[in-house]
Amino acid sequence: MQRYFLILTLLMLPLLPLRAQNNVNAVKNAEVTAEPDTVETQLLTPAEAIDTLDTEDKYMKIVLYENFTWSYFDLGHPSIDTAGFYEGWDPEKIHAFKDVPVDSLPAKIDLRLLDSTHSFCVPVPGSVRSSFRFRGRRPHKGVDLPLHTGDTVRAAFDGVVRYSGKGRETGGYGGLVIIRHDNGLETYYAHLSKRFVFSGDMIKSGEALGLGGSTGRSTGPHLHFETRYMGKAFDPERVVDFRHGTIRDSLITLKRHYFNVYSHYGMTDEESKAASGRIIYVVRKGDNLGRIAAKYGTTVSAICKLNKISSKSLIRPGQRLIVR
Ligand SMILES: [Zn+2]
Repeated sequence: MQRYFLILTLLMLPLLPLRAQNNVNAVKNAEVTAEPDTVETQLLTPAEAIDTLDTEDKYMKIVLYENFTWSYFDLGHPSIDTAGFYEGWDPEKIHAFKDVPVDSLPAKIDLRLLDSTHSFCVPVPGSVRSSFRFRGRRPHKGVDLPLHTGDTVRAAFDGVVRYSGKGRETGGYGGLVIIRHDNGLETYYAHLSKRFVFSGDMIKSGEALGLGGSTGRSTGPHLHFETRYMGKAFDPERVVDFRHGTIRDSLITLKRHYFNVYSHYGMTDEESKAASGRIIYVVRKGDNLGRIAAKYGTTVSAICKLNKISSKSLIRPGQRLIVR
């Protein structure tokens, strides 16, 4: 019986993980062979690390010691709960879920942002220069955070890079990285001068994803940062207090009326709902305020109030007016 046990043990030896050959074992071996007076020194002073090697897993390094031993060093993996994580996943397209209308989303969606395994890091320090709103002739579906070209841009939360594209491919976004987080949220980082991560890469909150720049439709170096759920953008200031570089709350309840460029952080629900129900009219040649008001069953003074213009203001073709 004992002989069989010995044979079985010998057969299993190659199956033992390499991990077993760690620094502690090496120190024990040294204890056997070394002179008595050096044993104590060896045990009290751990072998000094002399190099670090990458493994296929970027969060797991191998540390080499001066005494020719090694051990794994776990940097800690991103926290990703994979259930339903890859729904609507597309590494080629910027916007996922394009065919899902906002109206089909639930009225309220609870998202957990922070807990014991999920942390937050502000992508770049500093205040918002341009907020989530209708700007000039187009919607601005994110916030602009000033930076210097070459400044490090960091992932807000743990996640997986869904999209990473260079300026030529992304239109106005320029160098763009999009990270999917396990609560369904996606964060967009645009105008990057350099990208360090690519589609499929895991990333941790606070990890550098690239360098800031002014690529794409940009008038100066800044980070254009978006928050989207099911492809629909909402005001990132609902999640992040950029001025203090902190998250507003560990949980956010997204309401359907948030997914509108006229709905901002700081509005009451009534204000946000009213803003989201707005009708925008694009002025055509030959239009005047009276004609537009009549067409939408409203008054010139109501239109002027909504658009903060005077009734004597000149309107020009292509201009957008809130009519309701
Ligand atoms: Zn922007």
